[in-house]
Amino acid sequence: MLILLPEWLKDLPSFLRIKEIYLVIYGAAVILIMVFMPQGIWGLLRSRTYRPSKVVETAPILKIDQSSTAADVLLRLVGLSKHFGGLRAVDAIDIQVRRGTVHALIGPNGSGKTTTLNVASGIYKPTSGQIFLDGVDITKKLPHQRCAHGLGRTFQNIRLFPQMTVLENVMVGAQRANNPIQRGEDALRERALSTLEFVGIREKAHEVVSQLSYGHQRLVEIARTMAGYPKLILLDEPAAGLNQTEKGELVRLIRRMRDEHAMTILLIDHDMRLIQSVSDVITVLNFGKKIAEGNPDEVLDHPEVVAAYLGEPDASA
Ligand code: ADP
Ligand code: MG
Repeated sequence: MLILLPEWLKDLPSFLRIKEIYLVIYGAAVILIMVFMPQGIWGLLRSRTYRPSKVVETAPILKIDQSSTAADVLLRLVGLSKHFGGLRAVDAIDIQVRRGTVHALIGPNGSGKTTTLNVASGIYKPTSGQIFLDGVDITKKLPHQRCAHGLGRTFQNIRLFPQMTVLENVMVGAQRANNPIQRGEDALRERALSTLEFVGIREKAHEVVSQLSYGHQRLVEIARTMAGYPKLILLDEPAAGLNQTEKGELVRLIRRMRDEHAMTILLIDHDMRLIQSVSDVITVLNFGKKIAEGNPDEVLDHPEVVAAYLGEPDASA
C-alpha cells in the first residue's frame, strides 16, 4: 500500500485534485485495513477459506497415566513463600494434596490463591520453600518441565489461542514431553478428540475458539490440560462466569475426572456451594497464610474462616 498508492494516485488526471488530498485517502485506507483486516491479508484469507480437513475420527476411551506408585501425597508445598517487595502474597504455607482427591483452595480476594498456583506451576519463582510433585523436587524446574512431570493447569483469565479451532487448541495440550501416548499428529488428534468427548464438547471440535460461549471456552481449557495426561490439575476459578446449570455440569465433570480417571485436582473457587459439594479437603488462605484446613464441614464452620469471609463479629452489636 505504502508504495503502490502514491503511484496510482500520480497517474490519475490532475483535474480530480486527488494529489492534494492524498494523505487523507492514505489515512482512511490505513484505518479501513485496521478495522476490517486486523490480521492482514493472510488472516483474512484464512478465516474466509479455512476448512478443517476431514479425517477419520474415532474417540477411544480416555487413558490416564497411573504409572506412579509413590506415596499418598501427590503435591507437597513446604514452607512456600512468595513476596512482592514488602507484600507477603504467600507466606510460608504448607499444603499436601493427596492423590485422587479434589482439594480446594479458598480465601478472600487477594489472599494469595492464584499466587500459590503460579508458584506451584512455575510462573513465579518462590521467595523461599520447596515444591514436590510425586516425590520429585520441582522447585527449580521451568513451567514446561513441570508439565512434563505431570502438572497441568488452567487460568483465572482464560488463556486459549482464540483464532485456532477447539481441536487445534486441545492438540497443543496433548503435545507434552514424556507423553505416554504415541507421537505424531494422528495420535494427538485422537487424544484431543477423546478428551473433548470426555468434557462433552466433541461436536464443537472444528469451531474457532473465539466464537464459543464463555462456558464452552472454559471446557476447552480443561480439555487442553487433560489432553496432556497430567497427574495433577490446578484449576483457577473454573466456575467464574458460569451460570447455575453450567456450574452443576462443572461439578459433575470434576467428580468424573477424579472418580473415572483417578486425577488429582487442586481447585480455587469463590462459590461455597460448589466448593462444599465437590471438595474432599479444603485449605483456607487469608493474607497469604493458611488459616484452616480439613473436610468441608469442619472448615466452613471454622470461626476464623467465617470471620475472614464475613468480617469479625462486632462486639458492640
Ligand atoms: P487471590 O487469587 O487469592 O485473589 P492473588 O494471589 O492474585 O490473590 O494476589 C495476592 C496478593 O498478591 C494481592 O495483594 C495481589 O495484589 C498481589 N500480587 C499478585 N500478583 C502480583 C504481582 N505479579 N506483583 C505484585 N503483586 C502481586
Ligand atoms: Mg485469584
